[in-house]
Amino acid sequence: MKKINMVDLNGQYRKIRWQVNREIKKVINSSSFINGPIVKDFQNNLQEYLNVRHVIPCANGTDALQIALMALNLKRGDEIITTNFSFASTIEVILLLGLKPVVVDIDPKTFNINPSLIQDKITERTKAIIPVHLFGQSCRMEEILEIANKNNLQVIEDNAQALGSTYKFSNSQKQMSGTIGDIATTSFFPSKNLGCYGDGGAIFTNSDSLAYKMRGIVNHGMYERYYHDEIGVNSRLDSIQAAILNVKLKYLDKYNKRRQEAASLYNNSFDRIDEIEVPFVESDIDSHVYHQYTLKIQNGKRDELADHLQKNNVPFGIYYPLGFHEQKAYKQEFISDNDFPETNKVKDQVISLPMHTELTKKQINFITNTITSFFE
Ligand SMILES: *Cc1c(COP(=O)(O)O)cnc(C)c1O
Repeated sequence: MKKINMVDLNGQYRKIRWQVNREIKKVINSSSFINGPIVKDFQNNLQEYLNVRHVIPCANGTDALQIALMALNLKRGDEIITTNFSFASTIEVILLLGLKPVVVDIDPKTFNINPSLIQDKITERTKAIIPVHLFGQSCRMEEILEIANKNNLQVIEDNAQALGSTYKFSNSQKQMSGTIGDIATTSFFPSKNLGCYGDGGAIFTNSDSLAYKMRGIVNHGMYERYYHDEIGVNSRLDSIQAAILNVKLKYLDKYNKRRQEAASLYNNSFDRIDEIEVPFVESDIDSHVYHQYTLKIQNGKRDELADHLQKNNVPFGIYYPLGFHEQKAYKQEFISDNDFPETNKVKDQVISLPMHTELTKKQINFITNTITSFFE
């Protein structure tokens, strides 16, 4: 059996190598390394895939979040509501811009922000909500949009982990995650569901005016060459990464399907183990793209299971060991009542298993047998 890894980028590359290599070569031959035509081409293809008016490529998913916030004309001290349980970028950019993060506890079933806790956190300084579609499943966007509309707030979806997933509204209408709020951001970090071979990111919006503004911000606040209308940043997706993404975008649905298949094999084998809670899927099968396959282990056995996996050479991840409210860098900085019972519970239960497009049945069997034997 092939060695099991958390992700297998090399195995995935080998299957599309000739196309990727050809496209990279074309870029090198063209010498159009920055803002080449291929970047525009990828932008158009992603717009079409998502059915969104504007895709603005940028350097990474953290920049994408920062640029989205910069586009909203916020003032120092304005409050941004977000989840307590995510990767650092989400809260980091809020703090870097001198804004105040107001974090909300999660729904322990999905690990996503609990929309019913948002209204209570809104003050007259609240300007935006950043829901994070964690581990590959969309937040409850309908409720979030309702709160946002009622309170005149902007919504920025952090879609770094859920590209290609769909969200179903209560009228059964479906929409791609990342096209629902005012702005959405994503990351093309290599291990993401659509990953390049370096850093990359993008911002999506259906608003022409926000798109115009953000295209300026990514390019030093420049709308006319060498005239700078506002303070921007330098955040570009380079042409070689765009060429790779253009090839891989064609496979994104297939890749996500592979993840869903792996998830259902995992689910089936854990069925009979009481101490294991498999990922909860709120809606249809296409609503979860399993950026992570994250179990909750009951009865305080998570760390023992982790030791057992380590001894048996099964890789795993703990995402995330702490809520933002306990992280040294942030805990003093945000307004909170320190009341996060669900995050506090979940952080000691979560364990993420290997999840990627190249997992074989044999590997999955080995992983599930290793886990079930621990409990039986
Ligand atoms: C990966 C990730 C980011 C940041 O993306 P980078 O490209 O690494 O900057 C932001 N938010 C979430 C939820 C992520 O998972």
